[in-house]
Amino acid sequence: MKITLLNPPALSESLPNREGTASFGALSTGFLYPPHTLAVVLATLQQQSIDATMLDALGEGLSLNETIDHLRQDPPELLGVYTSWGTLTPDQTVIRSLRTAFPQTPVIALGTGVRYHADLLLKAGASHVLVGDPELAFAKLVSSPLPDPGSVKSQDMLPDDHNFAGLLRSPAKLPRPAWDEIPWQRYGFLTLFGSRGCDDNCAYCAYVRVQGRSQRLRNAEDVIAEMVWLEQQFGPKRILVRDPVFAAQRTWALQIAEGLIAHRFHTPWECESRPEHFDPSLLKKLARAGCTTIKIGVESGDPDELVRIGRVEDHRHAKTYLGYLREVVHAAKTYGINVRAYVMVGLPGQTMAEINATAAYIRELRPTFFHPRPYIAYPRVILGEGQPETTIETLQRPLREVERDLATEYARQHAPLRRYWRKLLLAIPD
Ligand code: SF4
Repeated sequence: MKITLLNPPALSESLPNREGTASFGALSTGFLYPPHTLAVVLATLQQQSIDATMLDALGEGLSLNETIDHLRQDPPELLGVYTSWGTLTPDQTVIRSLRTAFPQTPVIALGTGVRYHADLLLKAGASHVLVGDPELAFAKLVSSPLPDPGSVKSQDMLPDDHNFAGLLRSPAKLPRPAWDEIPWQRYGFLTLFGSRGCDDNCAYCAYVRVQGRSQRLRNAEDVIAEMVWLEQQFGPKRILVRDPVFAAQRTWALQIAEGLIAHRFHTPWECESRPEHFDPSLLKKLARAGCTTIKIGVESGDPDELVRIGRVEDHRHAKTYLGYLREVVHAAKTYGINVRAYVMVGLPGQTMAEINATAAYIRELRPTFFHPRPYIAYPRVILGEGQPETTIETLQRPLREVERDLATEYARQHAPLRRYWRKLLLAIPD
């Protein structure tokens, strides 16, 4: 059976970033992750000698009509369509169009977060929805006659590999993504997962809802080997390590850093974790291993709000948290690591006084980059519904000012360096 995996195209200026928010997905104005999940699904199919290809219509910049024309040139016998919760509306449109263009072809919707809206994808015209992590289960599903149309559970496909919610028990079982089949260069970087899940349970967090409340690590040696493979095989400009909490297990993170140093790894890479997971000696090692940026969720600079959203346990903890963050940012910058700091806007009950406290705190913290982000109540997120869009716009204003000032400062500090490099480049003959 000839299978095509489809990363559907953008239907408007909002880009469907299906990998965003730990694969819950989001509509984006610019930033896109390469379709990591589909690349692993494809690698699993290849491992099992199943005839499969991928059409990354989003990465190729195809329109919906061009995507369908492309598929018609060599019609697949089965279509696997990548979908996500945050991109539901365009995904429904694409599935409706595929159903019309290929009325007899099974269309299987897949994606890490589809368990929250499988019925809507079936209504749109999907013949099946694979509920649960798809990386291993999709190959199992298509390697025998398809069941009757409807939802199919990853756990029923491979009960030893998935828990009751369909989450993969061990990411160590996954093959490396089939990046060579994807126009990954168009995304500007490659991605890697060293682990999934997080042992914490911040009340606003979508990551734990989609990846699970326990961090499952791959073997550090495998992670190092994959990083080196990415560098040698593909030579990306940078690598984004997408673990929700990369440095939560300090010994493991240290082992990866030391392994990369031993391999003289030189591709810039980035990772994310809670601020408390970093410390000066770990940051120093990460810097030597090529880590150029850490992402940290500050979330709020107001102690009461930090407690209310479940980031910290109590007021005392909030003070320690905000104090320690200063040390982490200072240490990271000392070792040449950029800090991307995030806060959330539009949290339930959030006041302008809390926003102003956060703005003042971030000004003092001086991360390299600052990103105020609207809070989105993803399914089953404990904190529940956030504030309306108009309120978010008002609340965002003071934070946007801080964002702009920090960006201006960054540009000013780096302008002499850019001028130096430009001079150097111009001095080199063609
Ligand atoms: S530490 Fe990060 S990933 Fe873990 S629950 Fe909190 S916000 Fe989510």
